[in-house]
Amino acid sequence: MPQGATATMSNVSLDRRAWNIRRKALLMGEVQGQGYIGQALGVADVLAVSYFHALNHRPGDPEWQGRDRFLLSIGHYAIALYAALMEAGILPEEELETYGMDDSRMPMSGMAAYTPGMEITGGSLGHGLGIGVGMALGLRQKGSDAFVYNLMSDGELGEGSTWEAAMSAAHHDLSNLICIVDFNDQQADGPSTKMLCSEPLDAKWEAFGWYVQRVDGNDIPALVAAFDRARTLSEKQPRVIICDTRMCKGVPFLEDREITHFVRVEPEEWAKALDVLEQGKPQ
Ligand SMILES: [Mg+2]
Repeated sequence: MPQGATATMSNVSLDRRAWNIRRKALLMGEVQGQGYIGQALGVADVLAVSYFHALNHRPGDPEWQGRDRFLLSIGHYAIALYAALMEAGILPEEELETYGMDDSRMPMSGMAAYTPGMEITGGSLGHGLGIGVGMALGLRQKGSDAFVYNLMSDGELGEGSTWEAAMSAAHHDLSNLICIVDFNDQQADGPSTKMLCSEPLDAKWEAFGWYVQRVDGNDIPALVAAFDRARTLSEKQPRVIICDTRMCKGVPFLEDREITHFVRVEPEEWAKALDVLEQGKPQ
């Protein structure tokens, strides 16, 4: 039975949590007229399962020593994490309207010094996993049973530092480290598999000594099963969950847009996107 979040949160469904995260991300995007909204909509299910099923944390005490650490290696996904942190009650919803503004605690790229619940300053890509290895070693040294989750993108699979960290995690038998790869097959210059193909990805991680699962990252029951397996496995090795996600998930007219890394949303389209999302609102 998962602890932490689920122990303190109500019986709101994970589908609804994911929907709420999407909605909050769209509202923030509307504030600035821009944002990495395609990624946020795509990764919302992963974040819902993380914060409302898997993570052991205390929303009222984001620096609680016993918490599971959730690292946002992809700093430009901050809009998605802010939405999840608000949904989890770690950030107050009233701050939504300050997104990206001067003096806001929610800058457009994630920075640890600004935001409760933002564990690292990501965004120089390819560093989250290495930081996660250090944290996992440190927590083990302290006798903590907390997990370290590192959320990274498929674009970061092209960074050598990722693979150094992967090799190191396996060398140190870091069974308290869970890496989540958001595989949306998009990076700044186009489809990740066309820029620098990392397939066969599961075989690659396996060869680096990791326990590998690959799931549809927009399928909540599949994600729940994968996170449970990653947390309860007895093998002394790090775990990776490769999540195949769809950019802009939940807003079909955006899903169909060709360039989705930094999706252009016209001023009048934010309201339209919110309307379309509303039509798919779960219980
Ligand atoms: Mg990507």
